[in-house]
Amino acid sequence: MEQLECYDCGETYAFGDAARCRCGEPLWFETDTAGFDWPDASGTTGSGVSLGRDTLWRYESVLPAATPTGLAAAAGGTPLFRAPSIEPADGPRIHLKIEGVNPTGSFKDRGTAVGICRVDGPVGTVSHGNMALSVAAHAAAADREAIILVAEDTPDSRLAMIAQHDPHLFRVRGDYGRLYDDTLDGDLGVAFLNSDTPLRVAGQKTVAYEICEAFAPNAPDAIVLPVSSGGQASGVWKALRELNAAGLLSAMPRIYLAQAARCDPIAQAYRRGASRVESIEGEPTAAVSINNADPPSGNRALAAVAATDGGVVSVAEEAMLDETERLAADAGVSVEPSCAVATAAVRELAASGEFGSDDDVAVILTGSGYKYGGAAVDAASVREVDRADVPDAVRDAVP
Ligand SMILES: *Cc1c(COP(=O)(O)O)cnc(C)c1O
Ligand SMILES: [Zn+2]
Repeated sequence: MEQLECYDCGETYAFGDAARCRCGEPLWFETDTAGFDWPDASGTTGSGVSLGRDTLWRYESVLPAATPTGLAAAAGGTPLFRAPSIEPADGPRIHLKIEGVNPTGSFKDRGTAVGICRVDGPVGTVSHGNMALSVAAHAAAADREAIILVAEDTPDSRLAMIAQHDPHLFRVRGDYGRLYDDTLDGDLGVAFLNSDTPLRVAGQKTVAYEICEAFAPNAPDAIVLPVSSGGQASGVWKALRELNAAGLLSAMPRIYLAQAARCDPIAQAYRRGASRVESIEGEPTAAVSINNADPPSGNRALAAVAATDGGVVSVAEEAMLDETERLAADAGVSVEPSCAVATAAVRELAASGEFGSDDDVAVILTGSGYKYGGAAVDAASVREVDRADVPDAVRDAVP
């Protein structure tokens, strides 16, 4: 797995020789899965090393990295369960993939783990969210220097979360959007594991390997996920292509992507029937982790949708916030609003008849809501009570 290839024009490059294809599109690792089958033993890596529980290293033979240690060995292997309590009437069966149980609370750990096991020396990222936290934590565990470039307006609460892992944390003044390009050329001596780099996409494809293995020998009808840069969507598509080539899918699952309506360049391109995403002027949204007006893998995400006959859904702010509450109150899962767009999209697709009661839909809940302490406490949901009155208050609450 030393070759990178362009999904669009097919051009190949040696790993390390190019950051993007000459045609402008992002690259990913060329992976031959012709002989791949689901590994037999559980709790081991593909090469048979025991990790005690299933992690993404179960698929080591199709990854461009090996021999994980420390925190990197713990990424992936997240729960998937059906959540009837949030299924719409006459709608599909909804299966939730809880990426929030990764070591730093999001699927970003998958890409970071594979990246840090593959490259030597300092690592970095351009992010002020989950990716920054993930890279900082994995660098700490692997005793590497970490360069984290955050936007000037990043709130202190987020900085504090990242800073606890002791990276080199830079608050950048000026055009933050252009930094992604600045860090691509590699002459800073730092391996930047940005949102859609080949190593990150390779790690992040494993979420779809896990979903499909759970359904084997069948396959889910659809996989629904939030999209920002398009990195995770690329990984899911790559996984489906690889598993299909290995003959392990009874049918190709459709890929559906969800965006917040206030910043939805990929959904806009989808509605136009375009194959190219144009950058837009987004508005602020509570979906901070998917607020990307100029997604670097937007075209590839659109191609994933087109190739699998899926779709892209824009979710209104109010529906997204309602869905965040519903997931916590009815399914017991705390997520960021950035994740709730995905189940909100399922609701819309069920209402429009695109999903029916025969469909099995896997939804990737990309990150935990606990670390953002996001949900404001509704005063009416908390009662003050004196100690002596507790028995009465409890009897009152559960008649
Ligand atoms: C990064 C992130 C996304 C978006 O992933 P992309 O690969 O950038 O499309 C979605 N949800 C959460 C919680 C994230 O941290
Ligand atoms: Zn190309």
